[in-house]
Amino acid sequence: MSQNSSKTLVMKFGGTSVGVGMPNAVQIVKDTRADWGRVVVVTSAISGATDRLLNSATHAAQGDLTILRSAAAWLRQSHADLADKLVADSARRAQVNTEIGALIDSFVELCRAISVLGEASPRALDAVASLGERMSVRLLSAAIESAGVPSKYVEATELILTNDRFQHAHPDFAQTTERTRRVLSPLLDQGLVPVVTGFIGATEKGAITTLGRGGSDYSAAILGAVLPADDVWIWTDVDGVMTADPRLVPNARTLAEVTYSEVAELAYYGAKVLHPKTIRPVVDAGIGLRICNTFNPSHPGTRLVANNGNGHRAAHSGDVVRAVTAIRQQRLVTIEGRGMLGVPGVAARTFGAVASTGTSVPLITQASSEQSICFAVPFDMADSIVGALENVFAEELEDGDIDRVWMTDEVAILTVVGAGMRHTPGVSGHVFSQLGAHNVNVLAIAQGSSEVSISIVIDSADTERAVKALHEMIVK
Ligand code: ASP
Ligand code: MG
Repeated sequence: MSQNSSKTLVMKFGGTSVGVGMPNAVQIVKDTRADWGRVVVVTSAISGATDRLLNSATHAAQGDLTILRSAAAWLRQSHADLADKLVADSARRAQVNTEIGALIDSFVELCRAISVLGEASPRALDAVASLGERMSVRLLSAAIESAGVPSKYVEATELILTNDRFQHAHPDFAQTTERTRRVLSPLLDQGLVPVVTGFIGATEKGAITTLGRGGSDYSAAILGAVLPADDVWIWTDVDGVMTADPRLVPNARTLAEVTYSEVAELAYYGAKVLHPKTIRPVVDAGIGLRICNTFNPSHPGTRLVANNGNGHRAAHSGDVVRAVTAIRQQRLVTIEGRGMLGVPGVAARTFGAVASTGTSVPLITQASSEQSICFAVPFDMADSIVGALENVFAEELEDGDIDRVWMTDEVAILTVVGAGMRHTPGVSGHVFSQLGAHNVNVLAIAQGSSEVSISIVIDSADTERAVKALHEMIVK
């Protein structure tokens, strides 16, 4: 064993990493275990499981049980196929299949109950959604053991105590610290690799909760922070955080290092590498975070580094741009009128109306003339949002204080990210000249006061050209 033998590592495997990638994941655990004395594994459900579980439950609520039947068969088969491949001992394999079979039976029962009630409550949906991780831990732990590494599965309901906000539960860190150390420390002391369910927790009364879709990253960060671990590694199916979406920009490359504030902007703007809540617990605890590829484990991936106040210092403005992302299928909604000037409460009522439709708003702009407020919303929600605004402002529209509420055609939001923008003048000038030179028209702009990113709204037809043009500022 190397110098790391007393150090603790938390490794999280995502859905594809334990679906088709499970043989790789097992090998990675085995190899890593040779270097790190204490390894905790956190796993997602196998890819496709959570969607099928939730889809079955929502259909069951409408009285349709056909999806449930095919989902149950798919879950049984997919886990059994992996067990055939990865659990050599036949008695052990039979045991895993039986345990997973029992969870599938309870899935079927839960969905039947939902169909009788005709309603799937958030609490019931969490009970159903949790089953994917409860299946995958049993299988992955047995597979790791079959590869010669002693292991034990643990359900995070024993570790992560949350409030009862089902589907978006929030952990109680003090209680979680106490429980996690009590359960995991003895296992680690014995040299076992605990395999813990991502995504889930439990209330004080023992009801199962989930931390939100994609929440297994967050689970790994929580456990890493409370143990505490020295490092948290997120194993996924890409090489790390990239300079752009490689489907749009073929010469996009992986960033070796990204600051926490940069990755936070990327997570919100659709780069989907890390669940946005993952960052806070590890930053607060000063723990290292790395993103790496289960399908290319020798690649170093991306290291997340603390914000050093400067970000990446640049010689000239082009070098501070680290990554470019695009969120498509948006529309801009504008509410405008001269009567809005100096009237308090217009913005509050506007966003109150938007919130009533259950939509979250990725971008807002208002110029100081206060003649209009403009914001982006997902394409499909724009109609009902315009309707809600026309209702809320019916009087002002009649009196002419508000002239109109309108929406654009499909737009995309580009975001240019780079922590070094804070200290480098001229970045936005460079960004806009680059867009101008490529004939991209800018519809709206927003820059947060953190100065880590600039967001630019453009016509959706220009997306690819614009992303490529901005990417030239990074990779020449
Ligand atoms: N299985 C959960 C989901 O699909 C959690 C995760 O994978 O992170 O949302
Ligand atoms: Mg994920």
